[in-house]
Amino acid sequence: MADLNTATSSIDIQKIREQFPILDQKVNGKPLAYFDNAATTQKPLVVIDALVDYYKGYNANIHRGIHTLAEKATKAYEDSRKVVQEFVNANEVEEIIFTKGTSEGINLVAATYGRQNVGPGDEIIVSGLDHHSNIVPWQILAEEKGASIKVIPVLEDGSLDIKAFEDLLSEKTRIVAVNHASNSLGTINPVSEIVALAHKAGAKVLIDGAQASAHLEIDVQALDCDFYAISAHKVYGPTGTGALYGKRELLEAMPPYQGGGEMIKNVSFEKTTYNDLPYKFEAGTPNIADVIAFGSALEFVNDLGKPVMAAYENELLRYATQKVGGVQDVRLIGTAANKVSVLSFIIEGIHPFDVGQMLDARGVAVRTGHHCTEPLMDRFGIEGTVRASFAIYNTKDEIDNMVEGLERIVKFMKP
Ligand code: PMP
Repeated sequence: MADLNTATSSIDIQKIREQFPILDQKVNGKPLAYFDNAATTQKPLVVIDALVDYYKGYNANIHRGIHTLAEKATKAYEDSRKVVQEFVNANEVEEIIFTKGTSEGINLVAATYGRQNVGPGDEIIVSGLDHHSNIVPWQILAEEKGASIKVIPVLEDGSLDIKAFEDLLSEKTRIVAVNHASNSLGTINPVSEIVALAHKAGAKVLIDGAQASAHLEIDVQALDCDFYAISAHKVYGPTGTGALYGKRELLEAMPPYQGGGEMIKNVSFEKTTYNDLPYKFEAGTPNIADVIAFGSALEFVNDLGKPVMAAYENELLRYATQKVGGVQDVRLIGTAANKVSVLSFIIEGIHPFDVGQMLDARGVAVRTGHHCTEPLMDRFGIEGTVRASFAIYNTKDEIDNMVEGLERIVKFMKP
């Protein structure tokens, strides 16, 4: 590819692409254009190497071993925790709990803090933009406790109705759980404002950071949120791991999530005592290799610099919004002023699955469907969208290829 359109960026996209071997392939005979980054990002060599190095060189169970491999594995695992702490700017490393991902982080809070603090008649507020992962755990909790769920409405441009949120808040509100950025529309939510309003009403706040972690600066101390959940695989890391930040005093007071090895101090049939933070919440042998590679992924992002990455991705989003928006019969879904690099759209009269399949024939990987946000699709009266989501290795040439595909689809599918 000749022109990689690095115009406004100080980064060399070709060099970055070389670090992602998966990108250098043909799909259906055409060069792969991978636009499904909101579902999962591709992994750079440093991440793949971290996994291989661990299994080839120092695979051992962590924390209890005194032999050299166990000590090396433990150090690498705990070093990752430090990297995550700095990545979200947590005050203390003990406030970082490794999880399977964002879903598990949210489930953990619902099942521990939620069970302990939500009762009959209480209210939990989520938003109409939320992923099923940030809806269903709260529904399970509400059902168990006789509490109810209130929903912040979504405006026509895909942003949240903050005035309506203020009206929903009351002394009954125990928890507010919203995403930092929407996976379906890309909307960036005013989380600082949401946290401040919720705290004024006496509620705790969990932020689902799954879509923010690769694009937005995260500072849990400045935000003053109570919990913040992320997934490694959305930020160039491996699947099956992620992290939950929680304020120390809350984590200390919460009951354990799961029982097992590692999360205990002493066990007897008369009385078991629990381990200190963060181990109290990490029962059993964790996903050691992936946690280590998670750290490598975050270091990859730190090395490039998130503001530089975001500037480039925003440029791709602007370009794609203009180009795709100009295709006949395309309706963009989600046009909020502040967005991460997610472009959702439908072509009137053509099913999103058909669009996705036809783009795949050109080597263009997009996601189609409800994106695990069925209530949001209902809000817009649609079954689903076509979603192109951009990462640091994407290019304007790839977007041009997608747009050409869309134009052909409209030409041939429309009477
Ligand atoms: N929340 C949002 C906004 C997401 O985009 C996702 C993943 N699509 C999740 C939660 C769940 O993340 P995971 O599947 O990694 O647990």
